[in-house]
Amino acid sequence: MAEESINTGAAAVTSVERDGDVTLIAGPCSVESLEQMREVGAACKELGVRVMRGGAYKPRTSPYSFQGLEEEGLKILREVGDEFDLQVVTEVIDSSHVEIVDEYVDMLQIGTRNMANFSLLKKIGAATADSGKAVLFKRGMAATIEEWLAASEYITMQGNTNVILCERGIRTFETSTRFTLDITAVPVVKKLSVLPIIVDASHPTGQADLVPAVCRAAVAIGADGLMVEVHPDPRAALCDGPQSLDIAGLKNLVVELEPVARAVGRSLA
Ligand code: PEP
Ligand code: MN
Repeated sequence: MAEESINTGAAAVTSVERDGDVTLIAGPCSVESLEQMREVGAACKELGVRVMRGGAYKPRTSPYSFQGLEEEGLKILREVGDEFDLQVVTEVIDSSHVEIVDEYVDMLQIGTRNMANFSLLKKIGAATADSGKAVLFKRGMAATIEEWLAASEYITMQGNTNVILCERGIRTFETSTRFTLDITAVPVVKKLSVLPIIVDASHPTGQADLVPAVCRAAVAIGADGLMVEVHPDPRAALCDGPQSLDIAGLKNLVVELEPVARAVGRSLA
């Protein structure tokens, strides 16, 4: 990859607007190949989706599952982001990866399993304090909203307040979905915090056919953005295929969300 295509933080800082347009973040659970990401990137571009996701380091439940392409995945993500003029986001799972991930992406994601990894939060906050690069901060699957908001201050106190909260479902006794989406978190966070909040519609459901309804509800309740997993061939996905939309599914989603956004005085970005 050419040196100049690596993100240096000099570009305009990405964020999700609080109470503004609804930002859609779409892409596969994991970066698997250049071809896979180019298919998703082209669809994002065509549909006006400005932020593309893709995991390079994967926090898998089983150590025998695909763990991600690591730096090769970051390179692919950046290359495709540049090709289609998209902002890119990926998860940081370990303190030792903060610098390398920061070099390649526009937004750093902290996953549910690391919400209370305070040393990682401090490190990411400090590393992005000068650039003000966006940090997508997911709720711990067993954390209260109060614990989540308190944890967000480990990032902001380092000097970066460009933190985007992401509700992604919590553990309850319910087994019909992968997690239970706490949709109420959206208005509660709007009351308690000044930060934007988005909803990840894929991880709480675990099932692609439930994703559109969850997205509609999230937009209607006031979410500032949505994250959805999208794969060109969900059945062949190395991670989270059952909950991934295909490209046609992403197109349908955008079409069906536009009127919902309009009905609550917003538009999709
Ligand atoms: C992901 O976004 O792919 C992910 C692993 O999410 P979470 O941390 O919410 O499980
Ligand atoms: Mn996933």
